[in-house]
Amino acid sequence: MVSREEVWEVLEEYDVEDLSIATLGSHTALHILRGAKEEGFRSVVVCEEGRTAPYERLGVADEIIVVESFEEVVDEEVQERLRELNAIVVPHGSFVAYVGVDRIEEELYVPIFGNRWLLRWESERELERELLERAGVKVPRVFESPEEIDRPVIVKFPGARGGRGYFICSSPEEFEEKVEKMIERGYLDEEDVERAHIEEYVVGTNFCVHYFRSVVEDTVEVLGMDRRYETNIDGLVRMPARDQLEVDLEPSFVISGNVPVVVRESLLVQLYEMGDRVVEASEEIREPGLIGPFCLQTLCTEDLEFYVFELSARIDGGTNVTFLPYAFLKFGEVFTMGRRIAREIREARERGVLREVVT
Ligand code: AMP
Repeated sequence: MVSREEVWEVLEEYDVEDLSIATLGSHTALHILRGAKEEGFRSVVVCEEGRTAPYERLGVADEIIVVESFEEVVDEEVQERLRELNAIVVPHGSFVAYVGVDRIEEELYVPIFGNRWLLRWESERELERELLERAGVKVPRVFESPEEIDRPVIVKFPGARGGRGYFICSSPEEFEEKVEKMIERGYLDEEDVERAHIEEYVVGTNFCVHYFRSVVEDTVEVLGMDRRYETNIDGLVRMPARDQLEVDLEPSFVISGNVPVVVRESLLVQLYEMGDRVVEASEEIREPGLIGPFCLQTLCTEDLEFYVFELSARIDGGTNVTFLPYAFLKFGEVFTMGRRIAREIREARERGVLREVVT
């Protein structure tokens, strides 16, 4: 297990006047890299062969380290190069998915911007829920078994297939029927069904809120938000109800894009309170708590209450909508989450508290 002291030892060896910001070439790398350059850092991307085009064509990377597969970021050679470049690594969704929390916790001896130990808390459903419940934010009710289903629920399955195979139902009988159908169609197998996560279906509008916990300024900022663009559900709802019934399609919730959105101004107060509470809970769970970007995926009901159904303990993909309206209001210019990260690292360096923003 990598300790914070060991990370600080690596940092001690760094030339802090010549830092790099590094990430994997996927997810939100484009604006992380561009933000790094805007704030005067060298930008470094570790990229799989065949995936370098966006970073080359958009000119956002000062150095591209090509690997055969992303998990090679923990290979000694690659880590050595990152340390030579005085790199601070920014973890994102693909980082967590491809490298995995075990390797991040045990093998990556490069300073990470953010709290590396909290990545496990977003990756395991029970831990994620524990964090949200400790924070006292509203979460959808979870049903322990299909027999308990007494209202509309969404049934989720683990694994990398994303929202494919998720379904909505509202009784134990309908659950069995749909499971059978899904198995027939090859979307699920028996093992998946045992691990089904059954959650109250919250009817509301989707806001994925992009927060930034600044250690330097000791604040929790709301910088922007998006709503998910999911296939096939967002296509399905464009069909008239009559045709939906005719075609007998099952919905899926596979993310394919993000749409920028803003919330009614009067609702911002609630969102700040939720962010503050999540940060406090994260501090209790693992010092020093969340550092930098995190995201609460919410649904806002007709009573204007937010239910949190998912947490990202790192930069969220929805920040790719790039124009973060509240960041614009704070800084007076277009500010991506990538640039916000780089600004925090720059300010931490200026104030001599770089140690506080890495783990
Ligand atoms: P997830 O895999 O948890 O991110 O969920 C994928 C998508 O399913 C979300 O983006 C929502 O569109 C939908 N969804 C997830 N949980 C709920 C819920 N409790 N109520 C309604 N829709 C949900």
